[in-house]
Amino acid sequence: MAQQLDSATREALLTRVRFYRDLGLTDFYRRDVSAELLAQLSSGTGPDSEAPFSTTISSPSQEENLKPPRTQLPTAPEIAAIVPAAGRAAALQIIRDEIGDCTRCALHVGRNKIVFGDGDPAARLMFVGEGPGADEDAQGLPFVGKAGQLLNNMIAAMGLKREEVYIANVVKCRPPGNRVPEQEEGATCSPFLFRQIDVVRPQVLVALGATAATWLLGVRQPLAGLRGRVHAILGTQLIVTYHPAYLLRDPRQKKEAWADLQIAMRELGLKPPGKE
Ligand code: SF4
Repeated sequence: MAQQLDSATREALLTRVRFYRDLGLTDFYRRDVSAELLAQLSSGTGPDSEAPFSTTISSPSQEENLKPPRTQLPTAPEIAAIVPAAGRAAALQIIRDEIGDCTRCALHVGRNKIVFGDGDPAARLMFVGEGPGADEDAQGLPFVGKAGQLLNNMIAAMGLKREEVYIANVVKCRPPGNRVPEQEEGATCSPFLFRQIDVVRPQVLVALGATAATWLLGVRQPLAGLRGRVHAILGTQLIVTYHPAYLLRDPRQKKEAWADLQIAMRELGLKPPGKE
């Protein structure tokens, strides 16, 4: 016989399901509850820790404990099923719709526009940056300022057009003063990025700068230790290079960035324009 849940229990369950959904977990299975377990739950002696969807509901403070602690970076989620190329634009739109007029983290306060992502939903190459700057915040598109112009040049140097790649950021709202996103902000917003990666399923991902590399790899390491090699995440190849904004400040590093992009080109089987 189906058990009726009281309103507090229902609300707590909904909160938990929304939290999992925000992490990109969308499939839930409810197992039958035995009469014996129901009796245990009624008496408060049920094995709560063994039941992922037990009918025993934690208090708000326990719900809080489900969130990743501030010092811990989330690891990349399991690889989801592949979305057929023809359905990827619609799948990305579903994620955008879920984000809505988001107020999930503090960055919503100062933003003008959410910068979701831009480019070919079935791109073989995807770039991930840190977060929108002033130009991006005004236009609602990633990498449209001076750093974006440089990124366009980098893409062209690889023999590609901007519209052939996909571009997104770790956080979708502009951090005040272009500061690095806080742990809480990255932890709240990055699950949407992971879902975008799952949909686009690029052959090669390029992390632009330390923040993108940190959130994609789930480790905090100096950029120098991450560059120059191929990392495997989410069923794709990840290359780490400098953020274009950093290259604008220190153009001497462009040569190093080009070496990183050549690794990406090798993985994609691309040759620089004019060298076919
Ligand atoms: S940064 Fe992401 S999680 Fe935070 S308010 Fe913007 S869209 Fe929402």
